[in-house]
Amino acid sequence: MSAIFNKGDVITNNYFTGTAYLKMLVPEGTEFNCPIGNVTFEPGARNNWHTHDGGQILLVISGEGYYQEEGKLAQKLHTGDVVTIPANLKHWHGATKDSEFVHLAITTNPQKGGTNWLEPVSDEHYNAL
Ligand code: MN
Repeated sequence: MSAIFNKGDVITNNYFTGTAYLKMLVPEGTEFNCPIGNVTFEPGARNNWHTHDGGQILLVISGEGYYQEEGKLAQKLHTGDVVTIPANLKHWHGATKDSEFVHLAITTNPQKGGTNWLEPVSDEHYNAL
């Protein structure tokens, strides 16, 4: 599968399980006040549970993945899906076991703050999806 946007660099923080890449397409701190990142998850990769102070929108551009809100079943995501994530709602997103997964992540209301990282999505939880 061919990538649409630049894949960027491996994410080296401790808030992901597995390997993921980030390319900021519209950086933070610009006059546009609308950071947009291209995030690529290798199969099995996912981010920790987290919240966003100002919310987030995900635009799925390739592969198959999951989005899960705390207390709800995980939703399977495919190319073309749009996920709107309210501020302060605990959730995670990532690839399925067998597919790469690529989404654009748009930070909404960035003036309200950033991302608050929480505990990892355990293998036990993930493997039961
Ligand atoms: Mn998120």
